[in-house]
Amino acid sequence: MPEISTQLLVIGGGVTGLGVAWDACLRGLKVVLIEQNDIGQGTSGRYHGVLHSGARYAISDPGSAKDCATENPIIRHIAPHTIEETGGFFVSTPADPIDYPDRWFAACHEHGVYVEEIPTDLALRTEPSINPRISRAFRVLDASLDSFELLQTLVVAIQRAGGQVWLRHRLEDLTLQGDAVVGAEVTNLTSGERITIRANYFVNAAGPWVRRIANLAGIDIPIALGKGAMIALASRPVHTIINRCRPPSDGDIIVPVGTVAVLGTTDVEVESPTELAIGQREIDFLLAQCEILLPELAKSRPLRAWAGIRPLYRSSGEGFGRTRGLPRGHVLLDHNDRDGVKGMASIFSGKLTTFRLMAEQAVDLVVEQIGVGLSCRTAEIPLDPERTQFFQLPKRFEEIATPDQTEREQIICECEWVNRSAIEEAIKSSSSLDLDDIRRKLRLGMGPCQAGFCGYRAAGIAYEVAPSPHTDGRLEAFLRARWRGLRPLGWGETLRQMEITRRIYVDLLHTPETQEPPQ
Ligand SMILES: Cc1cc2nc3c(=O)[nH]c(=O)nc-3n(C[C@H](O)[C@H](O)[C@H](O)COP(=O)(O)OP(=O)(O)OC[C@H]3O[C@@H](n4cnc5c(N)ncnc54)[C@H](O)[C@@H]3O)c2cc1C
Repeated sequence: MPEISTQLLVIGGGVTGLGVAWDACLRGLKVVLIEQNDIGQGTSGRYHGVLHSGARYAISDPGSAKDCATENPIIRHIAPHTIEETGGFFVSTPADPIDYPDRWFAACHEHGVYVEEIPTDLALRTEPSINPRISRAFRVLDASLDSFELLQTLVVAIQRAGGQVWLRHRLEDLTLQGDAVVGAEVTNLTSGERITIRANYFVNAAGPWVRRIANLAGIDIPIALGKGAMIALASRPVHTIINRCRPPSDGDIIVPVGTVAVLGTTDVEVESPTELAIGQREIDFLLAQCEILLPELAKSRPLRAWAGIRPLYRSSGEGFGRTRGLPRGHVLLDHNDRDGVKGMASIFSGKLTTFRLMAEQAVDLVVEQIGVGLSCRTAEIPLDPERTQFFQLPKRFEEIATPDQTEREQIICECEWVNRSAIEEAIKSSSSLDLDDIRRKLRLGMGPCQAGFCGYRAAGIAYEVAPSPHTDGRLEAFLRARWRGLRPLGWGETLRQMEITRRIYVDLLHTPETQEPPQ
């Protein structure tokens, strides 16, 4: 079995693990990160998209509020290319508690969160679609943040700083010597090869899988898994992030991101990190709650629904089902201190907004324990946007509109304007033929038709790049992922689109009928 050695092994390629690897590389450590899937398949690719100002948590979780308020300007400084300056409003609708805004306003001030009360008619002039009966309105420093863009930039930053990111490598087991973790057994899921990685230190950043990884070292971490469902609308009825001014609850936020607006969210306790199916009742409830904010919501076309899972530290042993009340702040566990197991720490929960701070604290611990490494520099060194593989829609219009490009470019995904050469390049540069990986890089299939027309075209390109009877870009799995979350939204335009797509793939191309997971 091949064996390699490193100073730090990071388990998990979500924003937390990537943040840890980037920070550690900048401090001069030799780092390997393993991720069982592609980048962004865990919670980091399944979130709302808010760079929080902290206002949302001012009363319910002041620690998180302060962390978000501190990190918000830092993320704007180091990753401005991932952010859209939407701004944020908190508004009181007739359904919200009348005494909440004053208490919340005072809490924001106490915890250093910027908030400014504005006249309701100014809020309504800026966002004419929101409920005209709002009684109060506040402006905060929320923004929308494209996590796929951020994750890709982090991968490039790690590689440029000398670190290694191994995608499709799954941790199978941890090896202990006495009371210390010293090695990891890893499977390369592409080749099937088993590899041993020896390291001076291990950081468990496996998000909702954090407990499973800790178990491999004989450690238990009591967590609850809270599933949150979200719905993307095919348009942006608002251009500012709109929050209801009430204690954080289900269906109280609308986030414009890129070409869509995201309605969020619910909070249902589940048993497993892969329990992502969304029930009809969750959808109906979410829509009804968001309709209080946006009375004309029924006229907007829902595009799809999806869910992400929060690992929440259940330190006080509450019963199953009560996840809304659990703290959302991040947790860093030094397993030497807590469990008498040397060489490993776990970091989880928190916010995407606070990933840099979480990474800084985790790597401070690593440096302290292994006795080498510089001080943290991630707050000062901007991530380099030039090196990402991402394209944003306006940029794509500009590129495609130049006369010489029009001559030779074939548009494969009309919704997101993905052209043939971008797909060919993505396949060649990542050596992955999986359409779902290409989707995360280029937004292929993420527009209103949900891969209805680009799926089979892109599968054809994958075959051209690597001709083999088995090359189809894993079209069936790609379609299954695109169609998951559509059924609970199956009415009006969405139903019509679903039916056209089904006829293209199932009736015409004889792709097996894919089943959604049970509701
Ligand atoms: C519904 C919802 C909405 C949210 N909205 C926001 C928001 O608007 N703003 C905000 O700031 N935060 C938000 N958050 C929080 C934010 O999304 C998370 O804090 C963040 O994404 C967590 O990242 P992570 O890296 O810790 O976990 P993940 O992104 O889940 O990454 C963990 C990774 O570990 C990998 N892994 C697991 N087991 C193994 C193994 N054996 N071997 C190798 N790899 C493994 C997984 O594949 C996964 O990719 C939201 C969370 C939810 C659930």
